[in-house]
Amino acid sequence: MSNFNIAVVAGDGIGPEVMEQNIRVLDKVGQKFGHSFKYEYVKGGGCAIDEFGEPLPQHTIDVCKASDSVLLGAVGGWKWDTLPGDKRPERALLGLRGALGLYANLRPATLHEALKDACPLKPEFVQDGVDIMVVRELTGGMYFGEKGRKQTDMGEAAYDVEQYSVKEVERITRTAFEIARKRKKHLTNVDKQNVLESSRLWRSTVLEVAKDYPDVELDHLYVDNASMQLIMRPSTFDVIVTGNIFGDILSDEASQLTGSIGMLPSASLGEGSLGMYEPVHGSAPDIAGKNIANPIATILSGAMMLKYSFGLQDESKVIEDAVAKVLNAGYRTGDIMSEGMKKLGCVEMADAILAEI
Ligand code: NAD
Repeated sequence: MSNFNIAVVAGDGIGPEVMEQNIRVLDKVGQKFGHSFKYEYVKGGGCAIDEFGEPLPQHTIDVCKASDSVLLGAVGGWKWDTLPGDKRPERALLGLRGALGLYANLRPATLHEALKDACPLKPEFVQDGVDIMVVRELTGGMYFGEKGRKQTDMGEAAYDVEQYSVKEVERITRTAFEIARKRKKHLTNVDKQNVLESSRLWRSTVLEVAKDYPDVELDHLYVDNASMQLIMRPSTFDVIVTGNIFGDILSDEASQLTGSIGMLPSASLGEGSLGMYEPVHGSAPDIAGKNIANPIATILSGAMMLKYSFGLQDESKVIEDAVAKVLNAGYRTGDIMSEGMKKLGCVEMADAILAEI
């Protein structure tokens, strides 16, 4: 029996609805395996602006830092859309990632057998399934590099510097190798070393780290080729490791192979076991409060937390298997509905998953 303290930032819009279902599922798994999950609810995003005048109060950061893991719903909404950039609800996400030192973003793109029709590719391209984990560096590269404007003989110019240190590449590469070890032991490094100096340092560092992982098959693709191969032969990928901007683009491309945004979980990890787990989707203000949101992305984020922060592989798999069984039985929320299937609301979808645990 183990005890875990979890900080919960449910956020705005559908965030609290899908989070409630996630907690029900986690509690059932806890009961089944004899673990105790203790939750501390804190505010982040638009609801924190309303209550405290800022998207990420210090108290929220403190609670998250002191916890074993953080669950996040979604933040943002129309009400706060006119606020200036640094006051917007989305600042809570960047602020938390920074405060918790989370530098690795894990985005699985799994095409569930029962949802194959939702994939936009022809069936022959995905007949062997799609199960890809994109590991994206989250705190370096040109999103965080020096930026500015200057006058040139072509007029005003702007620049964003792509910079990576050996240490930054080493730690994200190790994270990716460790994950590959627990999957099909195949890692694809994506860079642009034929053109970029930063990619040449990236590539040589990946090759150095690879010496510690002889059991994992490693290959390399240039980012332009990787974007094509993801469409041409998605079934052949296992884990992809790449920098911030390439990962931003490739993880969205990979996610589209799976059909609906309501199905996609994510994790952000740092040095220790503390991580932040959240669905890829936003706060969906258009459907909030109607009990029609798909809770599966958030529930699968909970499963990722069990696996990556708490080392509870079997418990995590029980959730993944329950989701697969419910989909195979033909149950769907509105976003993944198709002819002949049985439509459920947010709470009823969680009920169906609970019944399989
Ligand atoms: P969104 O992901 O919230 O919604 C896009 C579309 O997908 C909408 O039609 C929505 O109804 C649908 N959708 C999303 N999640 C769903 C689910 N679980 N079940 C069924 N349908 C679902 O993106 P958006 O509309 O561009 O953004 C809305 C707000 O969310 C904005 O304020 C945005 O800044 C914020 N946002 C937050 C995050 C986050 O918290 N991580 C991420 C993206 C956007």
